[in-house]
Amino acid sequence: MDNKQLWDKVLGEIELNISKANFGTWFKNTSIYKQEDGVVYINIPNTFVRDWLINKYNKLILKILREINPELRNIDYVIIKNEDKTSVKESNINEKYQADNLGLNDLYINRNDNLNPKYIFDSFVVGSFNEVAYAASQAVVKNPGSNYNPLYIYGGTGLGKTHLIQAVGNYIKKISQNKKVYYVTSETFAIDYINSVQNNKVNNFKEKYRKYDLLIMDDVQFFSNKEKTQEELFHLFNNFYENNKQIVFSSDKSPKYIANLEERLRSRFEGGMIVDVAKPDYESRLAILKTKSNNMEFSISEEILEYVASIIQDNIRELEGALNSIYCQSQAKKRNLSLNEVKNLIKNNIKPQKTISIKEVMKIISNFYNIEEKFLYEKTRRKEVVKPRQVIMYILREDFSTSYPYIGQKLGGRDHTTVIHAYEKIKNDIKTNSLLNQEIEQIRNLLYNN
Ligand code: ADP
Ligand code: MG
Repeated sequence: MDNKQLWDKVLGEIELNISKANFGTWFKNTSIYKQEDGVVYINIPNTFVRDWLINKYNKLILKILREINPELRNIDYVIIKNEDKTSVKESNINEKYQADNLGLNDLYINRNDNLNPKYIFDSFVVGSFNEVAYAASQAVVKNPGSNYNPLYIYGGTGLGKTHLIQAVGNYIKKISQNKKVYYVTSETFAIDYINSVQNNKVNNFKEKYRKYDLLIMDDVQFFSNKEKTQEELFHLFNNFYENNKQIVFSSDKSPKYIANLEERLRSRFEGGMIVDVAKPDYESRLAILKTKSNNMEFSISEEILEYVASIIQDNIRELEGALNSIYCQSQAKKRNLSLNEVKNLIKNNIKPQKTISIKEVMKIISNFYNIEEKFLYEKTRRKEVVKPRQVIMYILREDFSTSYPYIGQKLGGRDHTTVIHAYEKIKNDIKTNSLLNQEIEQIRNLLYNN
């Protein structure tokens, strides 16, 4: 059956299933672009339609397609405008059907400001691991260009930095339409600058960037070693700062640790508000999975969500990937997966990691120091308890990127400032106290080499 015949047949079925108004709105100007390896690529007019089709009609379309041809496994959406048929932009599809994470993502992006409209506060789950970064971002959108300038957010990969800084942009754009917002990665910024130098257009470059009201720059760790670009950014930043215009940066590390960063730029990075995003704790991972599956209208058992949340600990992108895999498989099988099937799926897709719980860390360290675990939770300030407690806080932070508030909570409901203090103290002490240093080494041995 050729593409046109197949699509006409599908449309005929859909028409019987949904209201006339909806049919007209969402299926007008759609066609099949191609079929390949069991995937049907549907050509749609714009991203808006794409969102609706994915959210509301994906299952229906797939079901009808399969009834016609059981070998069809999946749908993907492409936007191919007549004028650029030559430079066809297709989405990628892999077996795991990470629809939202791959390929087509680009099609969402607004060409004027580079913002992805998906990245908004409403879809951002807040937990103890990221609440400080979230609060700082909220403060910035309420009062851009004032106290928190620049806002500098750092943390490991896949932990939501891009999502959060873009949410700032999307929010400002929504509430003040006259404000010019621009999102750029530090790499694009550097390329932009170098091109302008080569083409003798540095002034255009300067003008372009100085006209924005809010500049969001992602992954500034890439500035390391780019001297000229750093200088340019320094001047640009000053211009923004003097005009009370906000800049938001993200990075995978704190400014302190970016190698080969000019001192004056480092001090600019440090001059506003610096916040980090940590790895999500179990409860937050579960909340993220629940939110995402709800948004996908994918009903999935609590047991499975809990399993996934307990196994995938490293980052949120992997959590999304796992959820998408499960979704895809259950679509293919037309039924829910069992826990065992999910275990197999994840085993094959996720890199194995040694998992050690916070509970175990606390147990091993209190054993090491010969104190009863229960003292850790109590208010006691006896020296023989204080130190192990601080070491636990240090290890949980340093080795597991656990958030300060969560550590505090796990250790008898202590305030996060206490945890920060303990962390900094141990971190400093090991520089000069070789005994402590050895203790920490032995503890790490116990934790990781058994
Ligand atoms: P980073 O920039 O830190 O590498 P991203 O912002 O790209 O991470 O996040 C990776 C994926 O996880 C994105 O799809 C993002 O939407 C999602 N994500 C990250 N943090 C959250 C969160 N707190 N709530 C919901 N989704 C999140
Ligand atoms: Mg990012």
